[in-house]
Amino acid sequence: MSHPLTASLNPEQRAAVELPPEHALILAGAGSGKTRVLTTRIAWLLSTGQISPAGLLAVTFTNKAAKEMMARITAMMPLNPRGLWVGTFHGLCNRMLRLHHRDAGLPAGFAILDSQDQLAAIKRVMKTLNVDDERYPPRSIAQYINGNKEAGIRAEKAQARDDYSRTQRMIYAEYESQCRREGVVDFAELLLACYELLERNAPLRDHYRSRFQHILVDEFQDTNQLQYAWLKLLTGPNSALFAVGDDDQSIYAFRGARVGNMLDFQKDYHVKHVIRLEQNYRSHGNILNAANAVIEHNRDRLGKQLWTSDDDGEPIRLYEAATDSEEANFLVDEIAAQQRDGIAADEIAILYRSNAQSRIIEHALVAAGLPYRVYGGLRFYERQEIKHALAYLRLVANQDDDNALLRVINFPARGIGNRTVETLTDTARIAGTSLWQAACSAGSGRSAAAVGRFVHMLDNMHVQAQGMALPDVVNMILSLSGLYEYYQNEKEGEERLANLNELVNAAAAFVTEDENDLVAFLANASLEGGEHAAEAGEAAVQLMTIHAAKGLEFHSVFLTGLEEGLFPHDNSLADPKGLEEERRLMYVAMTRARRRLYISLSQSRMLHGQMRYAPASRFLNEVPATLLKYLNRGYAPNSYGSSNTSNTSNDWYAPPATPRHVETPAHGLAIGMTVRHPKFGVGEVVNHEGGANGNVQVNFVQHGTKWLAVAYAKLEPI
Ligand code: ATP
Ligand code: MG
Repeated sequence: MSHPLTASLNPEQRAAVELPPEHALILAGAGSGKTRVLTTRIAWLLSTGQISPAGLLAVTFTNKAAKEMMARITAMMPLNPRGLWVGTFHGLCNRMLRLHHRDAGLPAGFAILDSQDQLAAIKRVMKTLNVDDERYPPRSIAQYINGNKEAGIRAEKAQARDDYSRTQRMIYAEYESQCRREGVVDFAELLLACYELLERNAPLRDHYRSRFQHILVDEFQDTNQLQYAWLKLLTGPNSALFAVGDDDQSIYAFRGARVGNMLDFQKDYHVKHVIRLEQNYRSHGNILNAANAVIEHNRDRLGKQLWTSDDDGEPIRLYEAATDSEEANFLVDEIAAQQRDGIAADEIAILYRSNAQSRIIEHALVAAGLPYRVYGGLRFYERQEIKHALAYLRLVANQDDDNALLRVINFPARGIGNRTVETLTDTARIAGTSLWQAACSAGSGRSAAAVGRFVHMLDNMHVQAQGMALPDVVNMILSLSGLYEYYQNEKEGEERLANLNELVNAAAAFVTEDENDLVAFLANASLEGGEHAAEAGEAAVQLMTIHAAKGLEFHSVFLTGLEEGLFPHDNSLADPKGLEEERRLMYVAMTRARRRLYISLSQSRMLHGQMRYAPASRFLNEVPATLLKYLNRGYAPNSYGSSNTSNTSNDWYAPPATPRHVETPAHGLAIGMTVRHPKFGVGEVVNHEGGANGNVQVNFVQHGTKWLAVAYAKLEPI
């Protein structure tokens, strides 16, 4: 007799759920029930009394996925979700660091810098150090810092072979001490600080090791080196690590994800149980076959096939627009039609490769009055007025938070000019204190009086907040700071005021077991995506990047912008590995659809202020033509789609050949050669066409890939 929880599972799934408490790897394709197996195992372990809720740790990748996981578990088991350690790597590390902030050397109310805050902090460091931000673009410094942190490398251990990297390292070191001084951490730091805490502190580590008897990890293929090391630290002699993943869905290599962790895991943990699941329960046959055909073009795979007992279902619908707004209008019309057919709005997803694509789609949705929600991208918590309000709240929690102070010291305007701020910054730097401390001891004079009033206001907020309920605190700072008044008087302020009120609502709806609910609320704001963007509870069409869609499923999926350069993305083309990652992304996108998959593209598109014309994505040629249905423009059948799955090209559009030619052309700039350009710096030649009067494509370390005319580019081999 099988357990009621596992009765509806197939034999392989059931075996996985009911494995003994030992390390295990579930390796299986999209929609085969990996997440279902993982959540069912949690419910099964709890309901058979094998562990208590406190004994498990479950990790997944996005906040949305973590919420879904929690929902799936609590649907099977009556449980208080707050006691469970279920979350993202960042969320769980945040929780641990809050609990042990003293051991971690952090202030109780440490703030989390999101990527924009981090960039602002880096710019400040660079200004202090007098580093040229043309030569060292702050974004690339952020990548450098995050890359090092994700590899577990602190500034003093970072490699520096030349002047350039020595300067990067110097900025990194100064950035670290600035963050420490101000008591703030960035995303990568959450993980690294938590890892170091456990590594350093043996009693604490032992506590968690014996506590977490079961550690379960979803989307294991996308763990990076540091996350894997963190998991290893937490696995005690009596803990079982249960990992589920799919190598074909590894899409975070650009952030340091290592598919190799799946192989290392098997070796390092002497994994006895490796279970494969091959039946797909999510998608109709045509969708699955199309996705399988695309992913088969990748060479670097562990290899598996998926089948479904479902019908073939509908063909994949293809729409080619002349312009991006025509594409957006098509989406809107089609979505309206589906809703008339009774498909719920939140069962419909619009996916895109890059965030920049969403604006025009949003515009069309707004015009048509269709409610939607954006995950990732311009989130609620990243909107200007919300960031101002959060900065005041952060100062209530921790007055030494320089980032927050700089954001609002003169917003709304209160007569504190740039010069005064610079003087304060200098004073703070010389005295080695925070800006707040410098402000408290500002001398006399007109500007000092304005600073004095600001200090007084913050002190007042701080005092009032004591013992006050969280939504009242938010209300109070909105009034005392002058933010309410400011947006009331602003012409276009209505929406911003509505957002500020929404922040009060968010505070009212926020529940935490943390003693300090303000600090917990701020941490949550930094960690969360745009869940508050549409009105709570309202059904809305879901917009997101393909990356954010991982692990999710929808009745209908619109996969947009299938154009060369956009998807696969330009940045990936230089490297066959990059192209394979893009193809995995395509596989992830297609396999989100249960019943209906639309693919659309546009012949022209405004991107970053420029009109670009691009041919259709090569991925379209990898979908068997028999599975496609053309919705418009009377294109001849077979203009896309492969007639057999191993043939990647056709007459209409031949994708750039990969692998590329390897012979050295007359101008001597061979593929793989390192060159220097007077403006773009150092890069590697990745492609060329047309001889001495032709072009070369160079992947520049600082500027990405560019096509340049050989005759003019003044490229110097080095
Ligand atoms: P992904 O790789 O995209 O994360 P997954 O392998 O985690 O996919 P799930 O999301 O767990 O797959 O499952 C896909 C869908 O199939 C879900 O709707 C799930 O409820 C359903 N499903 C899984 N197993 C079964 C089963 N044995 N019977 C019926 N439905 C199932
Ligand atoms: Mg899953």
